[in-house]
Amino acid sequence: MLSQKRLFGTNGIRGVANAELTPMIAIKIGSAIGTFFKRARLIVGHDARTSSPMLAKAVVSGLVATGCDVLLAGMAPTPALQYAVKNHRTAGAVIITASHNPPEYNGIKVVWKDGIEISREQEIEIEKIYFNEKTRYAEWNKLGKTRELPGIVNEYVEAIKTHVNVPNIAKRNYHVVVDGANSVGSLAAPFLLRDLGCRVTTINANIDGTFPGRPPEPRPENLEKLALTVKAVAADLGVAFDGDADRSVFVDERGKIHWGDKTFGLVEKSFLKENKGEKIVTPVSSSTLVKDIADAYGGELVWTKVGSVTVSQTMKKLKAKLGGEENGGIFYAPHNAVRDGSMATALILDIMAKTGQKLSKLLDTLPKYFLEKGKTECPEELKEKVLRGLTRQFKDMNISTVDGIKIWFGDKSAILIRPSGTEPIYRLYAEAKTPQGASKLIREYSSKLKSIIDSLR
Ligand code: MG
Repeated sequence: MLSQKRLFGTNGIRGVANAELTPMIAIKIGSAIGTFFKRARLIVGHDARTSSPMLAKAVVSGLVATGCDVLLAGMAPTPALQYAVKNHRTAGAVIITASHNPPEYNGIKVVWKDGIEISREQEIEIEKIYFNEKTRYAEWNKLGKTRELPGIVNEYVEAIKTHVNVPNIAKRNYHVVVDGANSVGSLAAPFLLRDLGCRVTTINANIDGTFPGRPPEPRPENLEKLALTVKAVAADLGVAFDGDADRSVFVDERGKIHWGDKTFGLVEKSFLKENKGEKIVTPVSSSTLVKDIADAYGGELVWTKVGSVTVSQTMKKLKAKLGGEENGGIFYAPHNAVRDGSMATALILDIMAKTGQKLSKLLDTLPKYFLEKGKTECPEELKEKVLRGLTRQFKDMNISTVDGIKIWFGDKSAILIRPSGTEPIYRLYAEAKTPQGASKLIREYSSKLKSIIDSLR
């Protein structure tokens, strides 16, 4: 993953611990980040992976060597660390996490003083320092200092509570099952829920960096145990986090697992009812239901490229208050314009309490779409030409080319055709009002895509 020219991928620096991401490399990266921040004060924290404490110490060494002071926040959810940056007014943070990746991976995220991950331009500056050996080490008597920063998870929980109606939620005595993925998701949400007057049942709550309970990605196929537990204990809600607890996927009281754009649609609807005319930011990979809700409740929808940093940066630029992704990321800017699993959980409970309705009922009232996915092989070197070909061929239709090409049709169906960033394939995501409609779109557009690829070979 760590190439000769690039350190950062779509979501920070990622690699297999002690293979690609060794402590030696982490010190060097830490020194490059420290040089970039110029003797500033930074927070360092990490997730529950086996390699995280080791890599965090290496990064801290690099930062201190370049004269940065470091506040050691220890193990915490990514959004808690991002909130701490704003709350403690530091110049930024470095977070050791590989989010939803398998256990052997780890990664390094760099956060700016506004709590949002740094921009691509800033990443390039750090890469230049790293690859061109421009690191500036401090003199022996100007090294950075370190001190512990305890209590950030409590501060984070308290901050979330200020954005919802706590007495109103507490009145309902909800029973919530939390699946913490054996990682930092267990450090904040159960305590937040207790403060919201909920009865809490936890699964996969013990911290274990080998992720024995389930893989760190909250995909429906990994959440069977959560769904069964919600039904078994007759809970009102289930929530599962990814490895660093910035994403949350919800299960209704019937044990049904819902994709992120649907629960985001619910938050969006409730938000727009009280905040007419506001901008809603979402990647083109989200369902059209997000657009339907924006249209119905007077919101202005902004489609972005796929990727959480793009959503955050776009929200910041447009001063948008709400953003969301289909993978379970909800961004609520009054708290922090980053995706945040615990904040999302509080917002969902707030809506349930406000309406007095069960989650299944609330989600039932949203526009319905059926999804189907497909993929077509495409050699890496043809990807861009193929995209230009697709854009030419469909230019007279209702399209967006912000990321790949998305086409909306008159009957409310849509298809997104997008080159994979990691594999030699194009992915297709269709949605329609019937399952047959979605299948038909995949068949039709796979064959159109194939003929363009073949014509360019
Ligand atoms: Mg994550």
